[in-house]
Amino acid sequence: MGKSVYALVWPTATGLAYYAAAVTALALTKGQDGIATVWPSSGVLVAALLLCRREAWPIQLIAAAVASLVANLGLGNSVGASLGFTLANVAESFICAWLLMRNNAERPFSARSADIAAFFLMASLSSFVSASLASLFAPNQSPVFWFSWFSTDLLGILLVTPLILTVGWSVKRGRLLPRHQTIGQIAGMFALVVAVAAFTFSQSKFPLLFLPMLTILAAVFRLGVLGAAGGVLIVAIVSSAAITMHSGPEALIDADPMTRSLFLQFYLLSLFAASLPIAVLLGARRRLVNQISENIRLLQLAETVANVGHWRLDLTTQAISWSPEVFKIHGMHDASPPAYDAAIDAYHPDDQGFVQAKLADAIDHHRGFEFRARIVRPCGQIRYVFSRGEFDGGTSDRPLGLFGVIQDITTQVAYEEKLREAAELAAQAADQAQILAETDQLTGIANRRRVTVFLEKAIADAQSSNGTLSIAVLDIDHFKAINDRYGHMAGDQVICRVATDASRQLRSDDMLGRIGGEEFVIVFPHADAYIAMMIAERVRKAVEASHSNPSVTISTGVAQWARGETSDSLLRRADDALYAAKRAGRNVLRLSAKPHRILFDGRIAENTA
Ligand code: GH3
Ligand code: MG
Ligand code: MG
Repeated sequence: MGKSVYALVWPTATGLAYYAAAVTALALTKGQDGIATVWPSSGVLVAALLLCRREAWPIQLIAAAVASLVANLGLGNSVGASLGFTLANVAESFICAWLLMRNNAERPFSARSADIAAFFLMASLSSFVSASLASLFAPNQSPVFWFSWFSTDLLGILLVTPLILTVGWSVKRGRLLPRHQTIGQIAGMFALVVAVAAFTFSQSKFPLLFLPMLTILAAVFRLGVLGAAGGVLIVAIVSSAAITMHSGPEALIDADPMTRSLFLQFYLLSLFAASLPIAVLLGARRRLVNQISENIRLLQLAETVANVGHWRLDLTTQAISWSPEVFKIHGMHDASPPAYDAAIDAYHPDDQGFVQAKLADAIDHHRGFEFRARIVRPCGQIRYVFSRGEFDGGTSDRPLGLFGVIQDITTQVAYEEKLREAAELAAQAADQAQILAETDQLTGIANRRRVTVFLEKAIADAQSSNGTLSIAVLDIDHFKAINDRYGHMAGDQVICRVATDASRQLRSDDMLGRIGGEEFVIVFPHADAYIAMMIAERVRKAVEASHSNPSVTISTGVAQWARGETSDSLLRRADDALYAAKRAGRNVLRLSAKPHRILFDGRIAENTA
């Protein structure tokens, strides 16, 4: 119920406004033989249709039709003529609104100059239809009637539609007034138009018709479309009122009232045709300026967020332009940018040379550039910057130049430096861990793992280079007795001493490793059994000759690697040779005989100790 009542508010308002406009227009022209200057009701209905949804059009049209019928009957027209005129009026507004919607549903006029032309054209077309329809029902059909109908309706649509729409759109967007305008401004401007129009039309002595134009233009500059439509409408009202009092400059025309009225209409049309395009142009310009300043604001925001500034060097004048962020990066106040040389001087003395070279290269070869450098701020602070840019080929109104962006990367550089240091530390720690993992804790020589890896690699090398390789396994004789007699600590010292004595006798390529409690292995790369026996004998002698207390001896098993043999097999053969040495009385060397045959999987088929 409430909703349906609300749905009737707008049609009722339209009907009342339609009726009021009709009665006012007629009242204003009573003294002029019933010839109205402007028929504002048509404009009221067109605007009402454009402001409401398409579904509401029928009820709006019906409301306007009722208002039109009442106004016509009230004027004393016959029922037939009243119905005919109503049909003509309602059809006119419908056609005009429909055409405008089709042309540009978002903003039927005032967006582009093409839309303005379309608005004039559609208003003319609908007035043409309306005048022709009305002529059919007029009691005395004449060209004068047709033309009078046409021109008054045309003016009504042209002046009133934009006026109501401008205010209506603002209200729809939640503002009572169009953007950038206050009630004081609007009232002041229109008061000025009223005053000048009143002055112009209150006398018939001077043809001061150009005066209202000045105030309308002022209204256009202040208020845009609202100023154009409202200003001309005010002049129309004032001049119409003046006509009823037989006053105004058009009274100077020596002709019948119809001709004077036509003259006035032509005058109003000229005023409007001149001011509306200016209003539209100004509106478009304001929107463009707003858009540009918003874009600049966003660009500056982006530069601040990204720590990036942009600059341009004009190659004809050598003038430089800097964005605000470039000043910030340089630690300078946002004043005028320095000259080219001074801009180069802002770089660190060590960087100035290559910066200049990069820029010169870009200028000479018309290509891009990219560099990292340091900037020394006036306060002495150093900032790292990354700059890249392009050669900016000129156009007729833009001379050749160099365009670049500059980014403050000081924080990044600090992070990079920290990252590099951390990576170095991590690498050192990893090396340390690797060494620890491969070193025997007691003696400091290679442990089983490392010597095994070394042996595997030596075997692979010998296999691929068709080379030789031997190993020796060492075991301290009667070590249990040392432990028992002197204690475990002394035993450890003996193990260390044997390791030291042994390592002193080795070649630089050989590797000694501790593989068990008091057992060692020596890998002799590129050595045959003869060389291995020779060095192993040196080791045995050195241990024996060591004058420390308690003195120990070692037994040694030597084995030469056979082609295709695995490390396990080689170690087992050396171990067997070691046993043979133990059995032979200790403190001696034994050599493992060469295997007769190596199985496909690397094991030895026959072996002799
Ligand atoms: P053999 O001449 O036959 O080699 O007699 P041995 O007494 O040396 O016999 P074996 O090699 O089997 O003895 C190993 C002994 O070494 C057993 C263990 O008590 C001792 N041992 C093993 N590891 C360590 C160590 O790290 N420190 C000390 N002090 N003794 C160890
Ligand atoms: Mg032993
Ligand atoms: Mg042992």
